[in-house]
Amino acid sequence: MDFSHVRVWIFDLDNTLYPPEAQLFAQIERRMTAYMMRVLGVPQGDADRLRAEYWRLHGTTLAGLMAEHQVDATHYLADVHDIDFSVLDPAPDLAKAIAALPGRRIIHTNGDAAYARRVLAARGLDDPALFDSVYGIEEAGFHPKPAAIAFDRVLGAAGIDPQQAAFFEDDPRNLAVPHALGMRTVLVGQGRHGPDALDGLAEHGPHVQHRTDDLTGFLQGLLRG
Ligand SMILES: [Mg+2]
Repeated sequence: MDFSHVRVWIFDLDNTLYPPEAQLFAQIERRMTAYMMRVLGVPQGDADRLRAEYWRLHGTTLAGLMAEHQVDATHYLADVHDIDFSVLDPAPDLAKAIAALPGRRIIHTNGDAAYARRVLAARGLDDPALFDSVYGIEEAGFHPKPAAIAFDRVLGAAGIDPQQAAFFEDDPRNLAVPHALGMRTVLVGQGRHGPDALDGLAEHGPHVQHRTDDLTGFLQGLLRG
């Protein structure tokens, strides 16, 4: 499928711009559980169960906490993202490939923008020439992907025509709305499939148009045409 019309390249952050092997999310999840135990006054088992339930029902733990417990988002985000970033390695080849993409490059993450910038710095992806903008959950009015309103907010704020955009994301749920809006969709990671980029596509549904375990190689392939 052709990407020659794409003028805006939208990237998820977590487990998309760094490999899931870094297990950054395991650190964040431990802090989420600890936060919920503290704020809700529940034991660890209940906190873990609620966290999984909020993720499933609301898209993120934060969305569930805001909807059901009126938790202060800024306080929560600063706390759960206070983690060790030294587990991330710089990715110079990925930086080069992203810098070579024609048009605008932006990030749309369910984390907050301050956290995203720390991840980008640790990956060596913080050159201002790489990404035009970083849209965190606060720019989306605290609406998480996969909700349509989250995409509406970011596309509106960035002034993006989705027909000219491509979305790279590790959570297949988050590609449904981009596909419905006319974007090219690429599922990144999910390395349980074989090396063939088409292998295992069908199980996700038609909203996943491409799949790769190697984002850098995929982008280099696009650039070669
Ligand atoms: Mg992600």
